[in-house]
Amino acid sequence: MTGQHPVLHKVLLVEDDPADIDLINGMLSNIAGYSFEIMLAGSLQQARKLINENDFELVLIDLTLPDAKGTVCIERMLEIKSGLPLVALGGVDDQEAALTVVRHGAQDYLVKGMNDKKQIMRSICFAIERKKVERGLGYIERHDGLTGLVNRSLFMERLNRAIVRANRDKIQVAIMFIDLDRFKHINDTLGHNAGDTLLQEVATRLERCTREQDTVARFGGDEFTILLEGVNHANDAVIVANKIIRFISYPIRIHDQELYVTPSIGITMYPDDADSVEQLMKHADSAMYRAKEEGRNGFQFYTDGMNRESEERMELESRLRQAMHKREFQLFYQPKINIRNGEMIGAEALIRWNQPDLGMVSPAKFIPLAEENGLINSIGEWVIREACSQMQEWNMTGMDPIRVAVNLSPRQLYQQDLADMILDTALEYSIVPRNIELEITESLLMDDTEASITTLKKLKEWGMHVSIDDFGTGYCSLAYLKRFPIETLKIDRSFVMDITTDPDDAAICSAIIALGHKLRLNVTAEGIETSEQLEFLKQQGCDEAQGFYFSKPLPAAEFTDFFVRHKIGKLKALHGTVRKFRKSA
Ligand code: C2E
Ligand code: MG
Ligand code: MG
Repeated sequence: MTGQHPVLHKVLLVEDDPADIDLINGMLSNIAGYSFEIMLAGSLQQARKLINENDFELVLIDLTLPDAKGTVCIERMLEIKSGLPLVALGGVDDQEAALTVVRHGAQDYLVKGMNDKKQIMRSICFAIERKKVERGLGYIERHDGLTGLVNRSLFMERLNRAIVRANRDKIQVAIMFIDLDRFKHINDTLGHNAGDTLLQEVATRLERCTREQDTVARFGGDEFTILLEGVNHANDAVIVANKIIRFISYPIRIHDQELYVTPSIGITMYPDDADSVEQLMKHADSAMYRAKEEGRNGFQFYTDGMNRESEERMELESRLRQAMHKREFQLFYQPKINIRNGEMIGAEALIRWNQPDLGMVSPAKFIPLAEENGLINSIGEWVIREACSQMQEWNMTGMDPIRVAVNLSPRQLYQQDLADMILDTALEYSIVPRNIELEITESLLMDDTEASITTLKKLKEWGMHVSIDDFGTGYCSLAYLKRFPIETLKIDRSFVMDITTDPDDAAICSAIIALGHKLRLNVTAEGIETSEQLEFLKQQGCDEAQGFYFSKPLPAAEFTDFFVRHKIGKLKALHGTVRKFRKSA
């Protein structure tokens, strides 16, 4: 802050005529709001020396110097330092001369002895201000408005220069590509303001992890890049990466909430990994994706082969974008059985993507991708619609109504109108809300946001059934569990798998069943493949069962057959019991 003191502007006066020097000095000494520190050069040669040693805001230059005349003076000055603000001082009052001078790069042309003070002042101040604005514009164009970090274009420019230097000095350059895990999620749930604050905080922390000569840039969205110059060994990058992981992981306080974000970092080295900047950036991006796949909050160096994977991923993404209108999705249904009486009580709808070139793509592969790029919302909507339409068809053929479960991904829960959309769709197909079940994963509960609780409460009030999927894999506390309007816990398949061989898993399953019942919840076990597993769960009082033991997920028509056969099987069994009962009576 300057307070009342005017800013001191450093000006170079290139002039060899003592009378003119006095004249200009006098004028500059009393311009209100400006004060000048004036240095004098009597020739171009002297000027060159001073310019190289000082940082002038303005140069006033006479056009008749001992070592140059006319526009040559301007040209020479700009050769010494391009972008230097120049005001030329000429002897002739000639419009043409003035224009020529300005065309050569001067800001203005003043005729010595002919201008009044006011005019000179204006010219000088304008020249300074104009340069300031130009520099400001340059700054804005090359920096990120939110974080103040270097932006993508300046980063690329610096990377190019770093490569030239690296070639010359035979040194290495490391490039880091950083993506914040779960950032989109925070942005979706807490709003853009919180997201912005978070990005600013991350930017500050990243700068603290790096040295003066390194470049930290915001590449776009929640992506940051770092250029480490003069690296001796890949290990130098490891040190920085570890520091970043540590620094970013400290909780960030926003609106009285403690947020945790973690970075996934991809690293490439020049000249080892690639020789063009484009390739280097691409590799760093691929390595970052691998870091994400490896469980986030970590870093990965680029290795050969990652590129192919990232190309495959991009290919998959572009095909996924077309899948909807090409009608490549299909729902399969897997029966859910009441363990006590063996009756079928419902089914879980599981999406299938039948991609002509790739065959069946597993939802475990494309659902995470769809969550990342936002396609999940439209896919999710399609799933609800398709499930409702199928239920209507079953109803019309006279099949007993069953409860159909659809999986909701966390991201869908932040869609404001999700509850209304589901209810509207159900009504459109005349489906009783009671017959709709929604499976949400445990991780969603841990994020515990008011918006998703509100949505779930609405769904429950309307009679829909809410279940916690993959229960036991997250770290959901019981206190959280109580806050959510849920009816069912689904024990994750990974525990069920080993219940008959691993006592720990058996203990976990028993505990979940007991816990669920204490909280008056229904408990479902998924992934049952053997009669032993089923028997164990039955003994423990588990309510519902699902798994290959009963049936794999089936296309709708096959599911209908299964339903009918299962029903007949049950009837026969019942018949048998009645006959036995009669005989013994
Ligand atoms: P999930 O909701 O936990 O679904 C159960 C998964 O276990 C299904 O895999 C199912 O085929 C499989 N499974 C069922 N019984 C057995 C068994 O006895 N043994 C074994 N080994 N596996 C069994 P799927 O269909 O590949 O789905 C994987 C995950 O993808 C689902 O896990 C769910 O999280 C997600 N998903 C599937 N469909 C949708 C959908 O429509 N929307 C969303 N958001 N996610 C979906
Ligand atoms: Mg499920
Ligand atoms: Mg599950």
